[in-house]
This record gives sequence, C-alpha cells and structure tokens, in this order.
Amino acid sequence: MFGNGRAVNPSSEHKPHDGTMLAMLLDAPNRRLRNARLPIPAPREHEVVIRVTACGVCRTDLHIIDGDLPPHKLPLTLGHEVVGIVVQAGELVGAFEAGERVGVPWLGGTCRHCAFCASGRENLCDTAVFTGYDRDGGYAEYAVADSRYCFRLPDRYDDAHAAPLLCAGLIGYRAYAMAGTAQRIGLYGFGAAAHIIAQVARAQGREVYAFTRPGDTHSQAFALSLGAAWAGDSDAAAPALLDAVIIFAPSGALVPRALAATKKGATVVCAGIHMSDIPAFPYSLLWGERTVRSVANLTRADGEAFFAIAEQVDIKTVPVIFPLRAANEALDALRAGRFDGAAVLVPR
Ligand SMILES: [Zn+2]
Ligand SMILES: [Zn+2]
Repeated sequence: MFGNGRAVNPSSEHKPHDGTMLAMLLDAPNRRLRNARLPIPAPREHEVVIRVTACGVCRTDLHIIDGDLPPHKLPLTLGHEVVGIVVQAGELVGAFEAGERVGVPWLGGTCRHCAFCASGRENLCDTAVFTGYDRDGGYAEYAVADSRYCFRLPDRYDDAHAAPLLCAGLIGYRAYAMAGTAQRIGLYGFGAAAHIIAQVARAQGREVYAFTRPGDTHSQAFALSLGAAWAGDSDAAAPALLDAVIIFAPSGALVPRALAATKKGATVVCAGIHMSDIPAFPYSLLWGERTVRSVANLTRADGEAFFAIAEQVDIKTVPVIFPLRAANEALDALRAGRFDGAAVLVPR
C-alpha cells in the first residue's frame, strides 16, 4: 500500500490494517461530502505522506463546494490547512523525515521556472497547483504533499491551533503585508483570517478597526477582546479615516464602502479568492491616490515571514473542533457563521 519510498516508519497504532483511510469526498459541486474509504496514498519523489492530525475548514472550501470556483478535480478531498506527522517520504525528500510535524498550505506546487516563479511571485504561477483543489487535501486520515511546499510549524502551537495559521494566517498575512506601514487598519469581515491578523497588527503597534455584518455584536465583541480599537457594522463610519483596509468578506459591495472609509493614499486589499461583483462607484472615492488590489494565494516566502512572526507573537487562534466525519456539519456551521475563530477537523 505504501508503494516506493524510503524511511517507512508509520506509527502502527494509527495505521489501518487494510491500508485504507477515511476521506470526506466531494463528488460534484453542490453536494454534501461523502464518507469514503480510499487507499492510503504513496509518495512520489518529492512528496511526503502525512497522517493528518488536524485540518482547518476555510471559506474557500465553501466556494469550491458551491461551484463559485470551477471544479479542477473530482472527486476531491478538500482541505488546505493541514497539519500532520510525516509517515513516509519520497526518494528525493530532503527537508523532512518520518515522525516530523509539517504544515501543508494552499500553495501545493508551482512550475518553478516561469517568469512569475523566477521573480518571487510563485503565487501567480499559471500552472500552480492548490491543495484541496487541484490535488487532494486534508479532509482525510492521510494526505500526500510536495515537501518543497510544506512548512515547519512553531512548537508553541498544538495541531488544532496551528491549522488555521496555514491559510487564514498565511493569506491574511500576505494581505496585511500589502497594507504596508499603515497605522490604522480596517478589517472587513471578522472571521478566521481577521482574528489572526488583528493580533499581528496589535503586536506591531497598529490600530485595528473591525467591521462586521450589521448587527453582529458578537463578532464585534470578539474583535474588541483581541485588542481592536473600534468594532462596528460594515455600513457604519469608523471614528477615524483609515490608512489601509483589508476586505476578508466575499462581498464586492464593501469595496466602495471601504474606499469611503480611507485617507488619501490608502490601499484597499481584497483578500478573498472569490467576491461578488463590485458595484459602480464615483471616481472621487478612488481619487487621492487610493489603490484597490487583490491578493492571490501565497508564496513560500510569505510563509517563512509569517511563521517567524508566529514564533514570536503568541497568536491566539480559536479552533472549534469537529470530528473528520462531521465535515459537513463544520461546513454548515461556517456558512451560517455559528462560531468565532476557525473550524478544525480532527480524525478520531
Ligand atoms: Zn511558475
Ligand atoms: Zn483557505
């Protein structure tokens, strides 16, 4: 069952007798995930097989299920915030050995030679492959990943607390980096990414202004508890003009609203992979050298930079644990906004 490869030393207590594993499979858009038994994958040359210990549930997973993002692979195992222990490494894996903990992010591989890859912008590679979208992800007991795109995780985070760092943290951090040296930062949509980035911003002495769905006083209180200077409804005016805004919510209507909340020279960063249409707005909102930009994916350099910060700053993630078999319930809860923080699947 493990195919070619070296250093096979899986912990036998977790290895099923028949070489199969539980995976929660998406057969087609707009379906519930199906509980399936699949062969445990084998690693090719640069790959590691990991025993999944925690996998975050991301809004992008909902966009894939809903067909907002076109299907790339079906059936598909979702999940791109994967934490696990290496049980087998391919012949050419140099960075990790069996028994080590790794994190597997959304960026699962790139061509490594195009103009984007050669200029530090591998996040834009035309042939990049994404975990839990182009290749199977972590909604399973085992997963296989290209070791060259995996990360070591700071020891201070246990598996469930580390999982949300791998997408909400990494892509949130890339969006935050695009906000430059902004002192007053607005965050629209206070979910998994914003709650991580708010803490990084506070640790770096920035002021955070949190905008939530109108009337969502619960999320507003959560933002204030994490050190936000102000929290309020997304249609309310902040008490001060902002130097930058990051929009995590998938609503294009927030773009003109965010622009109206900014100072001259501000940047509005759209951090989501999918957003509803942006309505027409007067040029005066953009005037004054304001910038609107998107952030796509992540680079490995973003990961190195973010985990260096996460090593220093004790980022409080709020994992809400669901058993792997309850992946559909976790997705429902995310869709309904029924929890703060981040849903995390844990195989039992
Ligand atoms: Zn490339
Ligand atoms: Zn994600």
